[in-house]
Amino acid sequence: TSKFSSNNANAKPIKKRIGLLTSGGDSSGMNAAVRSIVRVAISHGCEAYAVYEGYEGLVQGGDMIKKFEWSDVRGYLSIGGTLIRTARCQSFREHKGRLKAAYNLIKNGIDALIVCGGDGTLTGADTLRSEWPELTKELIKNGELTEEEVAPHTNLTIVGIVCSIDNDMALTDITIGAVTSLHRICEAVDSISSTAFSHSRAFVIEVMGRHCGWLALMAAISTGANYVFIPERPPEAEKWKKEMCESLEKQREAGKRNTIIIVAEGAIDDNLKPIKADDIRKLLVDVNIDTRVTTLGHIQRGGRPCAYDRNLATLQGVEAVEAVLRATPDTPSPMISVRENKLVCEPLMKAVELTHQVSEAIAEKNFRRAMELRDPEFSEGYEAYLSTTFMNNIVPPQGNHSLKIGIIHIGAPAGGMNAATRAAVRVSINRGHKPIAIYNGFTGLLQENVRELNWLDVDDWTSKGGSELGTTKVEANNLELIACQLQKQGINALLLIGGFEAYSTLIKLTEARDKYPAFCIPMVCIPATISNNVPGTEFSLGSDTSLNSIVDSCDVIKQSASASRRRVFVVEVMGGYCGYLAVMSGLAVGATNIYAPEYGLSLKTLQEDVNHLVRRFGADTKRTSSGRLILRNELVSNTYTTDVIANIIQTEGKGLFDSRTSILGHIQQGGSPSPMDRIRAKTFAVKCVSFLEKHAHFSNPSEKMKLPEVYTKDPESAAVIGIKGAQIVCTPVTELAEETEFEKRKSQKAWWINVKPLVELLSKWGYSDNEP
Ligand code: ATP
Repeated sequence: TSKFSSNNANAKPIKKRIGLLTSGGDSSGMNAAVRSIVRVAISHGCEAYAVYEGYEGLVQGGDMIKKFEWSDVRGYLSIGGTLIRTARCQSFREHKGRLKAAYNLIKNGIDALIVCGGDGTLTGADTLRSEWPELTKELIKNGELTEEEVAPHTNLTIVGIVCSIDNDMALTDITIGAVTSLHRICEAVDSISSTAFSHSRAFVIEVMGRHCGWLALMAAISTGANYVFIPERPPEAEKWKKEMCESLEKQREAGKRNTIIIVAEGAIDDNLKPIKADDIRKLLVDVNIDTRVTTLGHIQRGGRPCAYDRNLATLQGVEAVEAVLRATPDTPSPMISVRENKLVCEPLMKAVELTHQVSEAIAEKNFRRAMELRDPEFSEGYEAYLSTTFMNNIVPPQGNHSLKIGIIHIGAPAGGMNAATRAAVRVSINRGHKPIAIYNGFTGLLQENVRELNWLDVDDWTSKGGSELGTTKVEANNLELIACQLQKQGINALLLIGGFEAYSTLIKLTEARDKYPAFCIPMVCIPATISNNVPGTEFSLGSDTSLNSIVDSCDVIKQSASASRRRVFVVEVMGGYCGYLAVMSGLAVGATNIYAPEYGLSLKTLQEDVNHLVRRFGADTKRTSSGRLILRNELVSNTYTTDVIANIIQTEGKGLFDSRTSILGHIQQGGSPSPMDRIRAKTFAVKCVSFLEKHAHFSNPSEKMKLPEVYTKDPESAAVIGIKGAQIVCTPVTELAEETEFEKRKSQKAWWINVKPLVELLSKWGYSDNEP
């Protein structure tokens, strides 16, 4: 079924000896990358050598370079930092150090090196590669190595994986560790916000990022901070102090009690003068705002990696090993990069050069160029942040028409629904429209439970889980009454936030346009469901929050299973007929297998898995093995229920191991939304308001036929917004119907479908069920 399905590597000759190291500042997910590199390398018939403490280990050699076996990386997925350690190594910057490194690599027979780190780490590796011919000649000349020893190592292959909490590398959308860091920042800011509210205080929070404002900006977006300072967008030196104080004072006069200002470590004004947290504090104290400073510091390194970083690092590890195997002496060293939700290789040194250009552009005061060098999402994010944070300069709506935008939540709650509503409300107000909350879904609409929301009503909704508007599972059944109420409330644009039910409701409303002119208005759906089953998007709001919630629970369960030494947990996860949650959380927790509807579940699979468990636990005579998890999607099979599977495992274990079940249930909706869901919510909502404006066709009062003020039957005017690669697109529901499996309530498209064989590979190698 995939390139990962063959996992019987024992008999193959060694293809390559791959060294791997982590270097520079640590970031969460480095261990997941190491685990993946080691296991994928072994499964490809290679040997993996961990080099401890980055380049320091390469220079020192000896015990600092250790051949890793499959079990050496057990438990790595859930641990923060880097277990093979990191260091800043001065000697590697010098020729003498790199000569020693070359010596140690050849002595260990290593001909490829995967380096995980920032731009310094990547540069160092590239330098080593370019000097390789001279270094080897020198080693022969000095008599340290013989020509025979050097002969098999005429080239050194280098592959870079970018690990950095700053997300500061060019040519990749995201770096390993950045999202976990954002999680920690958001948790901290959320906590600070509540004390700020209690005491009516302002807090200036300094976050990491000397040359890159990604963490600061994304933290500001995710927490609804009131002001942000980033190096790429320095404020005017002459004006910013006054502007900031006036803006914050205005917000306080309007009734706001908590003020959060986020400052990147490297924030500057447009004269390149640093803007420091304490300077801001003093300014605010002068205008009588009680202000404190919190420097988050090393808490931002992250600790336990979030689901996203675990999966990103795991997938990049696979790609890195494959890049090693593909490499030729003539190809430039690749960096594994993510572009449009796909892994690609970019020339490593080009990425490093472009990265340096950002700081150069800033130093030259060419801030526009600095912003351009960041990916487009960055500047869009900045604009979206401004439009949902500052209530000023109301932009007159298109053609001076104002819309009454109904906002409704439909279906089960999902993380990010409130954040999306907040952003939609604020952008609407800033563009001169009226945001109308429809409470409790369509049931609420029929009861006329609707109200216009104002700027401060939604102030703290970014971090709130659940649904502030209330959401019901009831679909729009009584179309006539719904049409009547929409008309009565004067709602002439509709934003539906919800999962598959919101989507199918939108289809119903669109199909009924001929009958009810009230539905001849622009309508757009923000997919919000933990199941990630709505057509038209690769990610729905809430799916990331849920993934993290499942991963949190599974870590705890795995720990319990491991402590009991010989226990298998069958964990049941949600998702309806969509296996997304099972598969992606299975990858993030290192599940033994995943049972999901897309792959089916047969007695043969169960038999193979039991055989595997018997071999695995049977071979573990010292009882050091970790516990095992099997993730079962709730609807995968009517016959093989969670209990039945657990009973089969227990019986077939014959005392060698036992089993337990865990049904995670509604915990999977998660509490406070993850930063990723908050950011996506804002992006979706801002674009949705533009969509509604664009498709609001205002009738000319002089038209003979008496039409409502807004009237459109254009199929393009009823759409689902979604993420496709790096783009946010609105796809008309009429188009999406073709790719929808309505009975199974999901899209036919599943970009994650090929991940499952990798999960199996990473947990099963060495005990292949094909063995006699
Ligand atoms: P971070 O983003 O955390 O700073 P980084 O990889 O950029 O990560 P650095 O300290 O710059 O961190 O680099 C890590 C190590 O890489 C250095 O300690 C040094 O050993 C090596 N290195 C960096 N730059 C070079 C270079 N120009 N030539 C040789 N080696 C280098």
